[in-house]
Amino acid sequence: MKYISTRGGMEKLSFKQTVFEGLAPDGGLIIPEKVPTLSPEEIKHLSSLSYQELALNVFRYFIDDMPEEELKEIIDRSYQTFRTKEVTPVVKAGDFYILELFHGPTWAFKDVALQFLGNLFEKLLLETGKKINILGATSGDTGSAAIYGVRGKKNIAIFILYPYKRVSEVQALMMNTVTDENVFNLAIEGTFDDCQAIVKKIFMDLEFKRKYRLTAINSINWARVMAQMVYYFWAYFRVCEKEGVEKIIFSVPTGNFGDIFAGYLVRRMLGNERIPKLILATNENDILYRFVNFGDYSLGTVKPTISPSMDIQVASNFERYLYYLLGEDPEKTKQAMERFASEKALRFDQEMIERIQQDFMSDRATEEEILSTIKTFYQETGYILDPHTAVGVKAAKRFKEDIPIVCLATAHPAKFPETVSKALGFELDLPLEIKKLYQLPQKYEVLPASISKVKEFIETKAV
Ligand SMILES: *Cc1c(COP(=O)(O)O)cnc(C)c1O
Repeated sequence: MKYISTRGGMEKLSFKQTVFEGLAPDGGLIIPEKVPTLSPEEIKHLSSLSYQELALNVFRYFIDDMPEEELKEIIDRSYQTFRTKEVTPVVKAGDFYILELFHGPTWAFKDVALQFLGNLFEKLLLETGKKINILGATSGDTGSAAIYGVRGKKNIAIFILYPYKRVSEVQALMMNTVTDENVFNLAIEGTFDDCQAIVKKIFMDLEFKRKYRLTAINSINWARVMAQMVYYFWAYFRVCEKEGVEKIIFSVPTGNFGDIFAGYLVRRMLGNERIPKLILATNENDILYRFVNFGDYSLGTVKPTISPSMDIQVASNFERYLYYLLGEDPEKTKQAMERFASEKALRFDQEMIERIQQDFMSDRATEEEILSTIKTFYQETGYILDPHTAVGVKAAKRFKEDIPIVCLATAHPAKFPETVSKALGFELDLPLEIKKLYQLPQKYEVLPASISKVKEFIETKAV
């Protein structure tokens, strides 16, 4: 499989060449040259595999420049860190199935991709003798998942900036208790926006970036999207088997469009009718909800909510879907994205809206609706949702049909104990593994919101 840019201006890359890339050089996103459509025999074959075998078989469609044994070893190592053998179990709760994506080390779905990516990075770096320094800013989830992805890995150091005393206690503990030599938690005296601005400025210093081989670890990375495809196949097969059906709908709490885009690709590979629709669920940051329902992709201001990992206006993976929506036409994609960059809005006519709605249905949840969904779902089923998963469940309730719906559970409720306890009306009991974090030694550096101070720090600690 070769890889191309959504904007058409990149020489084709092999899989390995995409692994350390963010944006394509022409500003587009990297996508596979062709998405394979699977035959009924291929689908049947995939249906009987373990999670790890399934991952290997799905990846084989997209990777042809790594030996199978090597890939298998990386996959096995990546999912050993999960607390369940099934990696992403599917459980029934009330009318819905819940796909639990939170059994990895940081109790949220980003582990599924980042555990794999960390091992992949290490392998490819050993092969080439190169070293990298990962730099990123986090408001909570992504940072800790990235840290756990690369902790203790050779030839990699990671520097994660987060706003000091402005992330939840559990989130700070998950980062600060990782004391590996190659992990640097930088608690910045400022806001998340300050952290992001510092990281952006440092990446813009091209000489510094080259000298320290700075690498981002963001949600547009192709290998991350690919790793997320596996659990859609996995849940599809489990639920079809249990229900004796061939059609399933997924409800996906969405921010950057990375998770649901993986679902979109799986839907194409299975031949669309097996997953008749994907439910795109947003919180009050609803640009994607407006896109699906009204063809209105116009930028709003980001509003902080109780489902913070979805507080996003510009969805960084959106361009990948746009490419397919516009008939896989790189020129049209480029023009649309350039128009969005200058006008901060794209509008789609009725015909396009109908086309979008063949793929997606979309609903949004307000803060009150998130709280009341957690409460009523617990009363009805005994299952406790986290505030992100609740956004997806609220949407699933609205679109309930004869076809079974799988709601993606993107985080464990214990990651957001304040919100969940408030919704339930009683104190949420934390899992032992999370309680233990409070006893562990911590390692972090408090730094002022200063580009030069962060640079100095990186200079002394970089690999
Ligand atoms: C990142 C995240 C999301 C959003 O996923 P996208 O791929 O950005 O759409 C949803 N829930 C949780 C808990 C997350 O960490």
